[in-house]
Amino acid sequence: MTERELRVSKIRDGTVIDHVTAGQALNVLAVLGIDGDEGFGVSIGMNVPSDTLGKKDIVKVEGRELSQGEVDIISLLAPEATVNIVREYEVIEKNRVERPERVVGLLRCPNHNCITNADEPVSSSFRVVDDGVRCEYCGEIIRTDIGDHLAVN
Ligand SMILES: [Zn+2]
Repeated sequence: MTERELRVSKIRDGTVIDHVTAGQALNVLAVLGIDGDEGFGVSIGMNVPSDTLGKKDIVKVEGRELSQGEVDIISLLAPEATVNIVREYEVIEKNRVERPERVVGLLRCPNHNCITNADEPVSSSFRVVDDGVRCEYCGEIIRTDIGDHLAVN
């Protein structure tokens, strides 16, 4: 086994999110709503050397698979990420994330006057555009630091 394989070893059942943009691992955990109190085994590699990215982060979560909404947000934080499903220590499925057309209910609009921030039963909805995501209610655009606008937690 090479050193590289050792780094991404070895969970029994769960999800390995690999090729995460360096510096985004904690945001990925926030997307998953994981802060350590849930009892999932979690390990994180940050700024690990990567042939393709220079350096990358890796997030491994035992006993947890990802919803499509979670994968959609991860694609915005880490466009090169791969999501590996692990069962009995084997990777049974490996998927590159894809940018969705829109994300609903997962981000908070930065515009305090936006109806999605009022006390109304309206879920946030953002259309994914070339340079970020745009609120479909007020037009506000989030270009960077999408991880700062997560609606989770
Ligand atoms: Zn808005």
